[in-house]
Amino acid sequence: MNTDTNNFRSGFVALVGRPNVGKSTLLNACLGRHLAIESPVAQTTRKRLRGVVTTENSQLIIVDTPGLHKPKDALGKELNKAALMEIRDVDVVAMLIDASMPVGTGDAWVAKHVAASNAYHLLVITKADKVDAEVMQKQIDAAKELCDFDDMIIVSATEGFNVEGFIHVVSEHLPEGPQWFPADMTTDVTDEELVAEFIRERILMNTKEEVPHSVGVICNEIRWKKNHASIEATILVEREGQKGIIIGKGGSMIKKIGTSARQNLEKLFDASVYLDLKVKVAPLWRRDQNEIRRMGYDAKE
Ligand code: GDP
Ligand code: MG
Repeated sequence: MNTDTNNFRSGFVALVGRPNVGKSTLLNACLGRHLAIESPVAQTTRKRLRGVVTTENSQLIIVDTPGLHKPKDALGKELNKAALMEIRDVDVVAMLIDASMPVGTGDAWVAKHVAASNAYHLLVITKADKVDAEVMQKQIDAAKELCDFDDMIIVSATEGFNVEGFIHVVSEHLPEGPQWFPADMTTDVTDEELVAEFIRERILMNTKEEVPHSVGVICNEIRWKKNHASIEATILVEREGQKGIIIGKGGSMIKKIGTSARQNLEKLFDASVYLDLKVKVAPLWRRDQNEIRRMGYDAKE
């Protein structure tokens, strides 16, 4: 894992746009596999989906934000609330516009909220394969009227056109930061997995070489109460000596780890977070990362 923050960039990008513009398809194309549900039926993706994309010098946490569109009913309003929170704290907001559909009031509604976000505003024209150059130019002109975008890119997620380019442009506008997650973690990551990885990364960052990479973290529980998450996690080490290092003098190290992890988790969940960290000496067989992960999800101790 790369814990050197020099020249490495990491952060959050939210995909927004009216239903069917291709958010889930673009997320999947970025991840190179099928995770989000793609569907010609609007609003199939109710649950927010995240994917992690790692390149040589950046790590993107991509959030598929299905609920941000002009509400038609009560459910739409609920979805919007969550989606609006989602775009408030991200680093880049990518607003998707379908090249093959006339730009309309739905897009304008989304754009208004994009404009209100402090993030970098990236315009993404999707489904480039469906239109010719002339239509494309008209779409670009119409889209640019909607919001003062910082940059623009044209993609076709189904053809794989400019998907790399999209990742590249987003990466350029992420803040300098560490690689939070292992490079192979591309899936629709659960909140528990994200919590465990954020804590693990903070441990490695703060303890340097003193604690081996075999240290494991299990997120035992996340309890939600409105906009507050109460989180319980256990750090697993091999030996008593390592436990001492992680706890530190008078608990100073565990406090440092906990505080910085908590700050990142608050950004991730856009909620206040209470983090309860425990350290446990675990038997040798538990060192296996997959085993630890599996236990974290399946076992209740
Ligand atoms: P979302 O509602 O914004 O998540 O949209 P989806 O990703 O579910 O896509 C809606 C529809 O558009 C699906 O039928 C996709 O296959 C199709 N679609 C998405 N991206 C492209 C593209 O680049 N080219 C073409 N031709 N179709 C696309
Ligand atoms: Mg979708």
